[in-house]
Amino acid sequence: MDNVLTEEHPALAPRAAIRSLPAYSAGRDAAAVRRDTGYQGLVIKLASNEGAEGPFPAARAALESVSTAVQRYPDSYSTPVSEALARFHGVEPNEVIVGGSGCALLAHLSSAYLEVGDEVVFGQPTFHVYRLEALRMGAIPVPVPLKADGTYNLPAMRRAIGPRTRLVYICTPNNPTGGLVSRSELTAFLEDLPARVLPIIDEAYFEYVAHPDYPDPVRISSPCARQAVVLRTFSKIYGLAGLRIGYAVAPAAVVATCRRIQNPYEVTRTAQAAALASLGHPNELTRRRAQNEAGRTRLCAGLRTLGLEPLTSQGNFACVPVGHAKAVAGALEARGVIVRPLDAMGDPTSIRITVGTPEEVEAFLDALAAELNSEHTRSAGATTSMAL
Ligand SMILES: *Cc1c(COP(=O)(O)O)cnc(C)c1O
Repeated sequence: MDNVLTEEHPALAPRAAIRSLPAYSAGRDAAAVRRDTGYQGLVIKLASNEGAEGPFPAARAALESVSTAVQRYPDSYSTPVSEALARFHGVEPNEVIVGGSGCALLAHLSSAYLEVGDEVVFGQPTFHVYRLEALRMGAIPVPVPLKADGTYNLPAMRRAIGPRTRLVYICTPNNPTGGLVSRSELTAFLEDLPARVLPIIDEAYFEYVAHPDYPDPVRISSPCARQAVVLRTFSKIYGLAGLRIGYAVAPAAVVATCRRIQNPYEVTRTAQAAALASLGHPNELTRRRAQNEAGRTRLCAGLRTLGLEPLTSQGNFACVPVGHAKAVAGALEARGVIVRPLDAMGDPTSIRITVGTPEEVEAFLDALAAELNSEHTRSAGATTSMAL
């Protein structure tokens, strides 16, 4: 359709890399599910790993007071937020970039560093924005299968790095599997990288992890590690997904480059105020981390009771093989629960469930149990009628 149109109207033809670019496959929202399934009750969304508890109390208060200032453009570089983050991480202010979401920063990094034909190495399955951003730039995605436990296989990724490799992603904990790379694996990998390869360590779920072997690459002091870009976001534990704000700690040269290609006033005044107010509450972070861990433990135990085998996850989500993931996700939607089938991420046999509130976790487990039960009845019925 698009192609016919653009042959007639050449002005409408996008550049070559964009013509076949798939759209980001987003988690479905409650309104779409009500429309498509006719489900009338409360729809529970566990499809996009948003923090279960919403904004921090201090951020809620800041949001109320900012509303009168919105006729003025915000600080274009989010200076107060980036300075607070620099203090928090013990780096210089010119080593922090704040963007209008983690995804926006991934787009800026791709725009800044990828030439047509460059290669981008990442794990598979993983966050599919890495692949889409490579394709958007006309670069070549090079997916490397994860280890069986759902963690990035860094030695295999090192072997996949060639003369055209420009960016390499390490997602830890990995979305959607939840596995971590260890401190020793990460340092060995970074130290052995060819000079032209820029590593991007995506730690969208950093604050949820309490594992003793989880490295904080911002603080790894080897000079090599400091050449990495470390991506974080306010969308997950900070509960600000709807405001779109994320940041990266990166070498000053990378920060300066990305600042030049950011949109003017990229991060809204509202998002900056809420993010700034969210910092400096270590007890609230610790409480949320513990709450998430309890929810994740309950979620995984419930899945195992139903005869399923979730992967060990360190994030606010769990990934579990179910067979035909799209069918299972569709059946759960008809019961008012939205989860994410992982086709777009490269695994059509698994679903990913976000750790919601305790009530949401129970509602999901009830819906899944009911679905498995009715499936069982249906297939038993089919066998009986066939036998007859
Ligand atoms: C959620 C997420 C991000 C960033 O999300 P934004 O909402 O765009 O800040 C980045 N990487 C991974 C792996 C994520 O899961």
